[in-house]
Amino acid sequence: MPRAFITGITGQDGRHLAEFLHAKGYEVFGMVKGQNNPKMTEMRDEFPYVQPVPGDLTDLPSLVKALDQAQPDEVYNLAAISFVAMSFNQAELTANVTGTGVLRMLEAIRIVGGSQSNPMRFYQASSSEMFGKVRETPQTERTPFHPRSPYGCAKVFGHDITVNYRESYGMFACSGILFNHEGPRRGLEFVTRKVTNAAARIKLGVQEDLVLGNLDFKRDWGYAGDYVKAMWMMLQQPEPDDYVIATGETRTGQELVELAFAEAGLDDWRRYVRQDPKFFRPAEVDLLIGDASKARERLGWVPEVDFPTLVKMMVEHDLAMERAKLDRG
Ligand code: NDP
Ligand code: GDP
Repeated sequence: MPRAFITGITGQDGRHLAEFLHAKGYEVFGMVKGQNNPKMTEMRDEFPYVQPVPGDLTDLPSLVKALDQAQPDEVYNLAAISFVAMSFNQAELTANVTGTGVLRMLEAIRIVGGSQSNPMRFYQASSSEMFGKVRETPQTERTPFHPRSPYGCAKVFGHDITVNYRESYGMFACSGILFNHEGPRRGLEFVTRKVTNAAARIKLGVQEDLVLGNLDFKRDWGYAGDYVKAMWMMLQQPEPDDYVIATGETRTGQELVELAFAEAGLDDWRRYVRQDPKFFRPAEVDLLIGDASKARERLGWVPEVDFPTLVKMMVEHDLAMERAKLDRG
């Protein structure tokens, strides 16, 4: 039975990946941070097959202990401070977790290692936010980086150090440059889920309006369930490499709002949505659109869920969730 170790197991991607690897017959270990983390109980209920291991990306000894305990064949580093807006307020923490945390994980693998014939394989969750103020469109593995937030800067370090450890120490280390991916498990702080959840709540009469920031941005949005498959595919290749994972389509913030409100059965979204400067960012990423040709050709990866289907899935989920809350009283 192959063994996988996932950091960020309580996050959106960690949960999708745990499900995916379990279905593939993996023994799954999930790193959980903190003392009495409330998400630990949720995780035990949702994924009784995941073996929790304590650890924190800011603490190298804990990572060494965690890997020593799990002895994985594959390590997926999904943990991060992942919210761009928060990274402007907590820039040092973001650098430490999202950036230097990758270096610590790589060092822990060098220390614990795995057997010589079967060294641990490493996946790093890189991000399209590294492209930031984009130098070319669409963005590929060769597009230069120009991050626009402390989060983007930390991800560039994580990406570069992964490449550096691969080149310096011959590690099987891959970096997936994933464009935005969403779904019903997306945190409520991200714009897609904030919008689908608000549309559901407004429809059910438990919320009056929705306050957003900039709506002129464009994002290449895919479905998280499709994207975790690409992570696994990268680690099954004969050689480690980096891949862009994206749909190749881009949508505006306004298109997201229009679709979500229509899906919830609300006629005129403009009646409910207003903008507030407090949600604008000090520097914005205006346009992201990825070219995933390399992943398609070498991994055989293609996204299966398109944008309208994704929004429909999220609105339906949020309507059901909010109705259930009302029923409970
Ligand atoms: P989430 O924000 O949903 O999950 C982040 C996870 O990191 C949580 O499990 C959190 O634990 C954990 N974490 C935070 N700080 C620490 C720490 N100090 N030590 C250990 N664990 C920690 O992110 P996603 O699942 O959406 O994303 C997964 C990865 O992919 C992230 O690295 C993200 O930056 C990256 N990415 C995501 C994209 C997307 O569109 N979703 C796009 C491109 C890259 P807890 O719940 O206990 O706080
Ligand atoms: P990001 O692409 O990782 O930053 O993902 P987000 O979902 O946090 O943000 C996507 C885009 O939505 C960014 O350009 C934000 O400026 C924009 N946006 C507009 N209003 C909001 C809001 O209220 N919350 C969030 N999270 N983003 C918003």
